Amino acid sequence: MRCDELKRAVSLYSAPFVAEAARIVLSGVRSEIKNGRRDHVDRVEIATAVALSVGEATKANFRRVINATGTVLHTNLGRAVLSDDAALNVLLAAKGAVNLEYDLKGARRGERDSHVEGLISELTGAEAACVVNNNAAAVLLALNTLAEGSEVVVSRGEQIEIGGSFRLPEIIEKSGCTLKEVGTTNRTHVSDYTSAVGSETALFLKVHTSNYRVVGFASGVSIPELSKVATEKGLPLVEDLGSGSLVDLGIFGLGERLREPVVRESIEAGADIVTFSGDKLLGGPQAGIIAGKKEFVDRIRRNPLKRALRVDKLTIAALESTLMLYRNLDSLPEKLPALRYLTRNLDDIDETARRSALLLRDLLGSDYRIDVVDGTSQAGSGSLPADELPTKLISISNDYIRAEAIFAIFLESDPPVLGRICNETFLLDMRAIEDPDMVVPNLST
Ligand SMILES: *Cc1c(COP(=O)(O)O)cnc(C)c1O
Repeated sequence: MRCDELKRAVSLYSAPFVAEAARIVLSGVRSEIKNGRRDHVDRVEIATAVALSVGEATKANFRRVINATGTVLHTNLGRAVLSDDAALNVLLAAKGAVNLEYDLKGARRGERDSHVEGLISELTGAEAACVVNNNAAAVLLALNTLAEGSEVVVSRGEQIEIGGSFRLPEIIEKSGCTLKEVGTTNRTHVSDYTSAVGSETALFLKVHTSNYRVVGFASGVSIPELSKVATEKGLPLVEDLGSGSLVDLGIFGLGERLREPVVRESIEAGADIVTFSGDKLLGGPQAGIIAGKKEFVDRIRRNPLKRALRVDKLTIAALESTLMLYRNLDSLPEKLPALRYLTRNLDDIDETARRSALLLRDLLGSDYRIDVVDGTSQAGSGSLPADELPTKLISISNDYIRAEAIFAIFLESDPPVLGRICNETFLLDMRAIEDPDMVVPNLST
């Protein structure tokens, strides 16, 4: 037998693994013979099939993809792309021992949150902070610590569901609290909160309606107003900011319309605890940040659930590096990919799009119509929901091939290139593509 690929497979992987692949291929051949679809057996053909099956099985499932969808913080594609600093720090933490829970100055056991707590306080004005796995966990932990067995008062206008199964009423229930809804979908007043308070009430929760906006005859109660009531009633005020932004994005030219709540402003306005995501607008690793008054953060830290929701060394490594970038706002939009993509100049996107379009025309040939057209991208992850950022798209169509089939060609490339389909046309949004070669599919695989 002269199948080099099979010999290679046998030398690379254990015999039982290759034997299992061979068994599956052979059982297919046997059933083909049985039902008359095959009348001969070719050893080289079978060897090649086994090698191919081993090759498929050993290809990593979890892979890099090219995000040309136009959704910058795409939850299904891993949200924020990390900065070079953060990625390097993750690599260092992954490859060696780290002082995760060791206090180098005191030469004694330390606390994992200590590596980022100071930075979070510095950047938000909070007295204290801790970190858990994601913002959903942050909300769960804050409510469970401060209101288990009691009532949480929330406006009906803030009963949100975020894609990916975060539904506020369910989180409240799972944290052991009872939801006390006040107001209506479009209007909630201070008096609604005041009259809802009873002997069972443990806290006020305000939730940023990240992924939608009620417009028209709508009003809610602001944090300063709610903080006043909370103080009068002696109740803590927790705000789930969702994305939350460490700085006013207006300073990067993202405009007033695109404003997400700034964490510092919420704390200054009187929120006792705020929670927000590490991998949305912040541009870091998946994490949930809990920041606010020390007495509450201390209680949250002591909750046994905190141990179950704690983050690992790689997250701390990425988060500390990401937060450090916020100390220099001049270089931030350049160094933080999420912000770099969101603030990218249209001429620059256009230039990359034109260069990619030339390469794609060369590769795909004249059956394809390839044009650079205007379009809009979005931040994603419920951040800046009402915004639409002007962008440049490459539209690719072919009279003989449907848009879904073109989508599939790009998806089969290595790495897969993800675009979107709109009005029967396959589109590549170039906002997050900085190298024109990146969207040119590698068709040899
Ligand atoms: C995104 C979001 C969450 C969930 O955050 P994750 O980091 O995805 O767990 C919770 N609340 C709001 C308001 C959000 O926007």
